[in-house]
Amino acid sequence: MPHQHVVHRGIKDALRAVAASEAAAASEAAAARFLHERCWKDGALFCPRCSADKIYTLGSGRYRCSACRYTFRDFTGRWINNGGLSCQNWLRLLDLFVEETTAHQMSIDLNLSYNAIYKALTATRFAIMAQALDFRQLLGAETGLGDYLKGKKLTGQRSRKTRRIIPVFGIIEKAGWVFIDLVPDILAETVLHFNANFQLRVIRTGNILYTDRYKTYDALILCCDASLPLQYIRNYERDAYVDSVGQAFWTFARSRLKRYKGVSAYRFPLYLKELEFRYNHRKQDLFPILAEHLCSLVPDNNQVARHLS
Ligand SMILES: [Zn+2]
Repeated sequence: MPHQHVVHRGIKDALRAVAASEAAAASEAAAARFLHERCWKDGALFCPRCSADKIYTLGSGRYRCSACRYTFRDFTGRWINNGGLSCQNWLRLLDLFVEETTAHQMSIDLNLSYNAIYKALTATRFAIMAQALDFRQLLGAETGLGDYLKGKKLTGQRSRKTRRIIPVFGIIEKAGWVFIDLVPDILAETVLHFNANFQLRVIRTGNILYTDRYKTYDALILCCDASLPLQYIRNYERDAYVDSVGQAFWTFARSRLKRYKGVSAYRFPLYLKELEFRYNHRKQDLFPILAEHLCSLVPDNNQVARHLS
């Protein structure tokens, strides 16, 4: 069976290479065409500002809306508009992301600075997170991640006035699907309190803490920083519910979480949502899905703000 799996993967990878990354290898124009098709369903252009569909083509890749006169390009207002990579490099980066290549290795393979790779990966992870039903909540005060967005652009830095928050997430696996929810009514301190006073088992691996079952969740999970009094955790060397045999998601996640050692508490939600995405699509080719997500429009930030207020 494992052999069959490998063969299947081999065919899948070959098909992907033909369908998509071939475009990258062929030329910048081919890669741009591939991404253009992901931006405009059936080639139908519309204005990213007012949604009008009567659009003039201006040349050199620019368009103008007949209704509001807005001038835009294929990537305007989309996640892929962040990072400044060429179209060929975007496709190469997605390919490497699917293979879970490290950012350091990507910068060598693509001959780009680590900083450029980091920005492009942040955009990719936001594009994944934007598909979550609780995306607007994920951008809220509980995580502070909304600070990254200015209009439809990722700024790459958080504002100084945001207070330090460590969000807590709950993991539920059901029928082969995993759901990783923000649990807004529980603080990191609450988890430690439950550990100290109500025997909730807490396991520590590097910066990451996870618990035994809690209410409907298989585990609570959080990424801590120096502000938490970790020395008071009791029984942290023992196993939790998710460590028991047959926990498919956790088996999938554990080795990957180990690689997240250097991840900050602030960026941790992006990595959790990436894990959720990888697990729930583990039987599919991630490349075309990622290309779609990356080419989708950034939700209106004002709407996010209104929603939260
Ligand atoms: Zn318009």
